[in-house]
Amino acid sequence: MVDLIGQYNKIQEQVDKSIIDVVRSSQYINGPEVKFFQKELEEYLDVKHVIPCANGTDALQIAMMALDLKPGDEVITASFTYVATVEVIGLLKLTPVLVEVDSKTFNLDIESIKKAITPKTKAIVPVHLFGQSSEMEEVMKIAKEHNLYVIEDTAQAIGSCYTFSDGKTVKTGTVGDFGTTSFFPSKNLGCFGDGGALFTNNDDLAMKARMIANHGQSKQYYHDKIGVNSRLDSIQAAILRCKLPYLDEYIKHRNWVASVYDEAFNDVDWLEIPFRNSNSTHVFHQYTLKTKEINRDEVRDFLKENDVPAMVYYPVPVHKQKAYDYLNSREQSFETTMSLSESVISLPMHTELDQEQLDKIISTIKKFK
Ligand SMILES: *Cc1c(COP(=O)(O)O)cnc(C)c1O
Repeated sequence: MVDLIGQYNKIQEQVDKSIIDVVRSSQYINGPEVKFFQKELEEYLDVKHVIPCANGTDALQIAMMALDLKPGDEVITASFTYVATVEVIGLLKLTPVLVEVDSKTFNLDIESIKKAITPKTKAIVPVHLFGQSSEMEEVMKIAKEHNLYVIEDTAQAIGSCYTFSDGKTVKTGTVGDFGTTSFFPSKNLGCFGDGGALFTNNDDLAMKARMIANHGQSKQYYHDKIGVNSRLDSIQAAILRCKLPYLDEYIKHRNWVASVYDEAFNDVDWLEIPFRNSNSTHVFHQYTLKTKEINRDEVRDFLKENDVPAMVYYPVPVHKQKAYDYLNSREQSFETTMSLSESVISLPMHTELDQEQLDKIISTIKKFK
C-alpha cells in the first residue's frame, strides 16, 4: 500500500545527516529542530501558529482541552472516520454525536450537521477524509450561527487547499479554531515514528494549546492547567524538515497516480472512481473506489491472491464498534456510512508508484470481472 523505504532512499543522505546531527547535539527534547520545523510548517500552511505534539490523536485531544470543552458537551463529528477522532471526544467525557457523511465526498453531510445541533452542542469536528477538504464554508456558517467551535481533523489532508466562494484559497486545516494533523509514517507527511501538530490563527488558543501539551506549564515548574506530556521528538522534527520541502512534489505524484487509476477505471461498470470536489484540491492520502453491485470482499480477496495489496477504510463504522455501544446514535440507521463500509476499497497509493506497477495493479483488477 505504501513504499516508505523507496521514499527514504531518495533523500537518504540528507535524512541520515539530520538524524546524526540531533544525536550528536544531545538536544533530544524540544531542541532547535522542533522550533525550525514549527516555523517552516507555519510558512507552508500560511498559519500563525503551529504547535507540534506527539501524535495526531493527542493533537485532537489538546485542541478540545484548549477550547475548555466540559463533560457532557456535545461534539459533532463524522460517522465514517478513523476511530481516533471519536475516541478523544469520549476520553474527555464529552458526548460524541456522530452524523452522516456525504456519499460522494465521504465528508460530513451539511444537512445532517444542522439536524444534530442541540443546546448542548459545543463543537464540530470535520474530518477531511482521504485527502479532500470538507465543505468548510458551510461548516463555518453553521458554527457561527450556533456559536460553535470547529476543529479540523487534517490527519489525511495536509497540503490540500480549500477555496471559498469569494475566491479566497487557504490550506486545509487553517479555517477552523484549530486544525490537527498526524505525522504517522504512512501519512502524506510522515516521520519515522509518531508525531503530530495543531494549527491555529488564534494567539490565545495557541498559548493554551502549547501550555497543555507541556504539562499545563506556564513557566518551568508553574502549572496553571492540567495538561499532558505530548511533544514532537527533535529527531522526528529533523526528519520532517527534510521531507516538508518535498510535500508538494509528493502530492503531485499522488495526483498523477490517481489520474492513471481514474482513466483505467472510469469505464468499468462495477467501479466508481473518487469524486473530486471543485472547491478543494485532493492530496490522495487514499485512492478509494466504490464497488457497485458486486461483493467488495470478493474483490479484496481476489486482489490479495494476485499480490495486489488493497485495504478497506473503514470496514466497521464507529457506531458499530463495541466501545461506542453506549452512544445512542446507534439507534440511527446511518445508511450512507453503512453502505460505504460495505462498498469502498482503497488501492496502493504512494509517492514511489511507477507506470509498470500501476499497469500490473490495473490489469489485475480488470481481470476480476
Ligand atoms: C491517523 C489519523 C488520526 C490519528 O493520528 P495518530 O498520529 O495515529 O494518532 C486521526 N484522525 C485521522 C482521520 C487519521 O487518519
